[in-house]
Parts: sequence; structure tokens; C-alpha cells
Amino acid sequence: MKEYRNDFPILGRKIYEKYPLVYLDNAATTQKPRQVVEAMTEEYYNVNANVHRGVHFLSQQATDLMESSRETVRRFLNAGSTSEIIFTRGTTESINLVAQSFGEKFMREGDEVIISEMEHHSNIVSWQLLQARLGISLRVIPITDDGQLRLDVLEKLFTGRTRLVSVAHVSNVLGTVNPVAEVIRISHAHDVPVLVDGAQSTPHFAVDVREMDCDFFAFSGHKVYGPTGVGVLYGKERWLEQMPPYMGGGEMIKTVSFERTTFNDLPYKFEAGTPDYVATTGLARALDYVSAIGMDRIAAHERDLTQYAMQRLQTVEGMKIFGPADNRDAVVSFQVGDIHHLDMGTLLDRLGIAIRTGHHCAEPLMRRLGVEGTCRASFALYNTREEVDALVEGIERVRKMF
Ligand code: PMP
Repeated sequence: MKEYRNDFPILGRKIYEKYPLVYLDNAATTQKPRQVVEAMTEEYYNVNANVHRGVHFLSQQATDLMESSRETVRRFLNAGSTSEIIFTRGTTESINLVAQSFGEKFMREGDEVIISEMEHHSNIVSWQLLQARLGISLRVIPITDDGQLRLDVLEKLFTGRTRLVSVAHVSNVLGTVNPVAEVIRISHAHDVPVLVDGAQSTPHFAVDVREMDCDFFAFSGHKVYGPTGVGVLYGKERWLEQMPPYMGGGEMIKTVSFERTTFNDLPYKFEAGTPDYVATTGLARALDYVSAIGMDRIAAHERDLTQYAMQRLQTVEGMKIFGPADNRDAVVSFQVGDIHHLDMGTLLDRLGIAIRTGHHCAEPLMRRLGVEGTCRASFALYNTREEVDALVEGIERVRKMF
């Protein structure tokens, strides 16, 4: 995959004028290939006009671009229709949209939502806001000590009041690839729909929402080589049709009067205001980019790199790796002896190695693991075994300092 590194100018940077950048913070955000940045620049320079409302040439061209980007996303997820593809600002907004809108329509005081112990804050707090508003309650699927969902317990969490299950496809801390198809099968057997948080799966392997049969699927553009500020909510039409708008404004209406307003068709009902139509182009080019390389090739490369990293890291004295031994993806959280994660992150940075440290927006999971934070290395298609070696050598240097 090394040839693709040239598409990412930032990877040529030297850090502190000294070390070539080793960027291992891809779970937080990936770097952007030229193809994405150039398509966005081109749109600003040559096409820019507000979408959907204009009769003039540029507005129509910008609208066509945005709608063809929606088709690109549909294909990427293998959704049945572009009506089911809603552009949002990212995973967080997608989950909040479902919480507020689905909650408003389908939940009452005393109803329940099932999440898991390994969720990102966006898949916890969004439901807690609904809890405060409607009086719903949260039930939590526990995890095993090696970071896998306890599906045996999931069965027991369903009651007559369960309205939704919302789980991560891949954990941003443990790298666990959750058996979402099984979660969906169990939930559907209880007549309960499922939201899958795909923030950490879409960058790493092919996703097929129809095969998975999820009811909602959320992901962020910036984690899959696209621009910041744009993401997607996929939802089955039968749910989206019944759900009320999330925000009010332009684009999402058919007619407005002071007495009565009617709402636009899907997906526009959920896209109030001027969308980031340049970012949607960037996102589509990013999805084209990874599709041209092949999601299966990317997955194979990253799985290999993750296994290599696990093996190499385990040679470090005092190394503790969190999460499962296999069936994991592109994310390795670890701790070395009693070296504080912040010290480790700061000192590795001085060697030009970027990792993430802290609670990774998953404080309940940190509590379950019995730590305040971890060090996390996460991989993308452009990372190499040499960079894993640099990480391990860097950790050894830090360890010797302590
Ligand atoms: N869910 C998971 C599993 C994540 O890793 C992240 C980002 N760290 C999010 C949700 C939130 O994504 P965003 O900040 O792009 O909305």
C-alpha cells in the first residue's frame, strides 16, 4: 500500500524539524488525499453556488454534484435508495438525530434503550438527553474482560418497553469488531430496531447495510479520508418516513405559512439549512478513493498491520494490551507498566510519533477496564510495518527513561 502515501502530502512532514511524521491517530481522524482536497478546491473555485433553490447554471451544477455524492454514499453502504441517505455533520449528529426524532415519535416515559459498555460518549449522552426529556431509561450490555459484547446478557435485557438498540460496529478503544448482524438478529426477534455506530468500521472494511439489516447506520466523513464537518445517517425508509424533522429551516419544507407548514420528502426533511455541499463532494471523492483501492485490500493490509503491532508491542516489558486477541480492527490500546499515558504520548510526540492518549470519549469503558486512560495507536491504509517498528522503538526509549 506504500504507493498511496504519495497521495497524502502531510505524511511527508517532519515533526520538530527532525523526525518524519509517524501518524498513528487515525481513529480520531484520518489524513486527506490530494484527490479529496483538490475536488473541494475545484468546487469552490469553479462551481460554488447554493444548492437546491437556484435556477441558474452554477446552482444546478452544485446541486447535481451534491446529489451524485448522495448516490456515491448509497453505493458505498449498499443502501436501497438515496432517500435513505441523510447528510449530517458526522456520527454524533446522526445519533442525536435518531435519539431526538425517533425518540419523539416512538418513545414514552418508562421506555428503554439498550446500548453497550464500550460505547463512545456520543452513543451514551445522546440517549441521556432523551432520558432527561422523556424519562426513558438505559440498559447496558456488559463486556467480557477481553472486551467482547456479552450477547448472552443482551437476550435478558429486552423487556416489553425496549424501543431501540444502539451499538458500535467497532470499538474506538478496544478495536473489537462487534457481531452486529447477530445483535440485529436478536433485536429484530424482539421487534426492536437497531442503530449501528459505524464511525470506526467504515474506514476499515466494506459495509453493507442491507445485508446487515440495520435500521440506522451512522458514520463520519473525516474518519474515512474525507473532510471534517460532514457525515451520514442511513435509515430505513419505513422509519424515516414516520419520524418528525430534527431541525426546522430552509430545505426541509414544502410550504410554509404562519398557520401550517408541510415538510419536504426524504431525505431533505432531515437536512434543514444550507448543507455543506462542498464537503459532501469531498466525502464522495474519499469514498471513490478507498473503493478504487478496494475495501478488501485495505482491510487485509490493516488487519496484518494490527496483528504485527500486537506481536511487536507484546515484546515490550510491562506491556498491557486492552481488548480481544483477534477479531479486532486497526486500533490498539495499551499501557506500559505504570507510565502515565500522558507522559507516554508526550514523549512519543517528541520522537515524531502521534498517538492518542486519555479516555477516548469512553469514560464508562475506562471504568470497566479499571484505568483512567490508555495509549492508543490506530492505523490507516497508508501506515506501514516500519511505522509500527518506530512506535515500538519509541516506547522502548520512553520506558528506559522511566
Ligand atoms: N462513535 C465512535 C465509535 C467514534 O470513534 C467516534 C469518534 N471518535 C464517534 C462516534 C463520534 O464521531 P464524530 O466526532 O465524528 O461525530
